Amino acid sequence: MFLFACSVEAQSDSVFIRKMANEIFQHSTAYSNLYTLTKIIGPRLTGSPQTYISEKWASDALKQAGADHVYFQKAVVTHWVRGDKDQAALLSGNSRQNLHVIALGSSVSTKEGGITAPMVLIHDFDELEKRKNDIKGKIVFYNHPFDVDYVWVFMSYMMAVPYRVEGASRAAKYGAVGVLVRSMSSSTDNFPHTGALSYNDSFPKIPALAVGLQDADKLAAAASAQNDLRLFISTNAHTLPDTIAHNVIGEWTGSVHPDQFITVGGHLDSWDPGEGASDDGTGCVQSIEVLRSLKSIGYIPKHTIRFVLFADEENHGRGGSAYASEAKAKNEQHIFALESDGGGFTPRGFMFKGKDAQMLSVRPFLPLLVPYGITEFNMPGGSGPDVELLTDSIGILSAELVPDSQRYFDYHHAANDVFENVNKRELELGAINMAALIYLVDKNNP
Ligand SMILES: [Zn+2]
Repeated sequence: MFLFACSVEAQSDSVFIRKMANEIFQHSTAYSNLYTLTKIIGPRLTGSPQTYISEKWASDALKQAGADHVYFQKAVVTHWVRGDKDQAALLSGNSRQNLHVIALGSSVSTKEGGITAPMVLIHDFDELEKRKNDIKGKIVFYNHPFDVDYVWVFMSYMMAVPYRVEGASRAAKYGAVGVLVRSMSSSTDNFPHTGALSYNDSFPKIPALAVGLQDADKLAAAASAQNDLRLFISTNAHTLPDTIAHNVIGEWTGSVHPDQFITVGGHLDSWDPGEGASDDGTGCVQSIEVLRSLKSIGYIPKHTIRFVLFADEENHGRGGSAYASEAKAKNEQHIFALESDGGGFTPRGFMFKGKDAQMLSVRPFLPLLVPYGITEFNMPGGSGPDVELLTDSIGILSAELVPDSQRYFDYHHAANDVFENVNKRELELGAINMAALIYLVDKNNP
């Protein structure tokens, strides 16, 4: 285990970080890389043709940014396909109101032509249990809203997301034939937000779709006015046999300890309705920018820094688990791992996962980041979804950049997660803080 040196040469470090910030503000390629990844390549659903186009792009971009060598690490991934029939409507008497919906990742299809069944409105799992005898043969509409009181919106997400992940199987347990889930967002528009569900194999697999927030409110209002409502849902989503995707890894060889690794990355895959800009094109291009900027100003790393663009974070996290398992199997020596997967918004903090002593060891770095907008370390919630597996498997400290969260869930997994909703300066400020933290960890480790 490594502990960071307690004394930080604050003066020279702050001069170095200032120089790097200037380099990024003046010459960053993060924004133009994001344009290519989102506008030219587009959404990168695991197993889709864009998976492999983006892997090739990532390899070229890492080489261009100065990686000593770039390689692919295999991950066996599931291959879910959306199809082209995601539809739903509210039926009442002879009237029909179409709804903005999208199938959840891993959902099975409805039968050809869709399913029509009575709707039962459920607010939470306690209510589901109380009304378990009302569920059979129906479509459950989970209308669990985001808790608006949290300032850090990821908390609202964590409270709501079980309805997306577990809702289908918990309803199927009592005989439901389908589910519609209020989108995981507190935005004011009507874009439905997709995301992964997880079936419990003990119960039948039933189709599950997310509905936009305005339509969710309409459904709730209709349900309080009358009780003979029916829902129509249709999707031909399905899962093909497992396939192969890759983590794309660029290495910058350490000058003192080439066999000791620091990891920085984001995930290359994305959901398909938008362009995968904030989730997680931004984390990928920021990681590449860390390499480009440190190299441009002549930094020589002591340890090998790996820039990893992970596969399959959204569906099953198989890229992250392949990376962590290989690190463990090969007995690799890792020091630290950082991920950016909270969007390219104005940075506010870093959160860490590790032992108390490991977290204390990075605290002296915080004042050096304050001029660039970072004011908090150790926010709750673990670290990056791919890199935290290294903490779980080999016990190292891992971290995630925490940008301002107010807008992240407006776009998360929805059709408006596009390039235009990323601000160039905010994106670069995130890259500056990531590069600064990687520099401080590298330099202050023996
Ligand atoms: Zn993500």
